[in-house]
Amino acid sequence: MKKIGICADHFRSLREAEAFFGRAEESGFDVLEVALDCLPLITGGSINERMVNDLKALTEGYPLELTAHIGEELDLRRIEELELQYAVLESSIRICGRLGIHMLTVHFEEHSPIRKREEAFYQAYKRAAVLAGEQGVMLGMENIETEDYSYVLRMIESIDDANFAMTLDLGHLYLACNYFGGDYMEAVKECLPYVRHVHLSGNTGAFEPMRLLDFPRYKTWKINPRIAYGRGDIHVPPVLGNVPYDRVLPLFKDYEGIFLCEYPYETFENYHAEVQEMIRSFTA
Ligand SMILES: [Zn+2]
Repeated sequence: MKKIGICADHFRSLREAEAFFGRAEESGFDVLEVALDCLPLITGGSINERMVNDLKALTEGYPLELTAHIGEELDLRRIEELELQYAVLESSIRICGRLGIHMLTVHFEEHSPIRKREEAFYQAYKRAAVLAGEQGVMLGMENIETEDYSYVLRMIESIDDANFAMTLDLGHLYLACNYFGGDYMEAVKECLPYVRHVHLSGNTGAFEPMRLLDFPRYKTWKINPRIAYGRGDIHVPPVLGNVPYDRVLPLFKDYEGIFLCEYPYETFENYHAEVQEMIRSFTA
C-alpha cells in the first residue's frame, strides 16, 4: 500500500497544531509534512527547547507518520552570514531527530554563477548530510520550478552520501520543463534513481516569470487570483490542472517512498478522497 501525505504548513500555535493533527487523523492520509517554520522552533539559529518539547508532546503516539519541510529563507549560498544559515539548518535537522522525523525536504532554489557561493552551498550540505545520518534523518533536495532539475541530480552525485537524495516535486518539474525545455516524462525517468520523496500538486504548466524576476512581489500576490489565471506554481490538488499524473504516476509502481500532496488542506478538504484514490489507482 502506497503512503500518501499532505502538507501541514498553516497552523500558527501549538493549540492550532493540536486541532489540525486531530482533524487530519480522519482525512485518510498516512503522513503529515510539517513546515518547520509554522512555529518558532528556532530562535536566532538555536533550538527553542520549550517549543520543541511541547510539539514533541503533541506528536508522541500520533498515528500518522510525520515528515518535515525546511522553513523559508534558508539560504546556504549567503556567504555573508553562512554560520547563522548553517545553524538554522543544523537546528532543523536536530529537531527532526528529536521528533522522530526521518525525511527533511530542503530547497535547491537557483544555482549561483558566483563559484564561491555555490561551493559554500555544496559544502554546507555535505556537512549537513553527515549530521543528518547521525540523527536518523534523510535530506531530500527539492527541485524548484525556477531552475533546471539537472542541477539537483549533479549535486546529489557530488555529495555522494546515503542520507542526501532528491525530493522530486512533480509539479515544479512540469513547470520547469515547460520553461527551460526538455521532455517531462524523460526528465521524470532521469530523476527516478535519485528520488526518496515525492511532492505532488496541480498546476497549468504556465511558468510565471515574476517568480524569477520579482520574488518579493510574487509572494504578495493572493493565491486565488493566481489560480484563476493559472499562473505558476499554484498548488492545487493534483487532480486539477494539466500535470499528466495519469502518465507519470505509473512510473512509480516500484517506488517505496511517500507521495506528499502540497495543496491547502482546508480549502480543498472536499478533494482529499479523490486525490488519494487517483494516486492509489495510478501507482497500483
Ligand atoms: Zn514541493
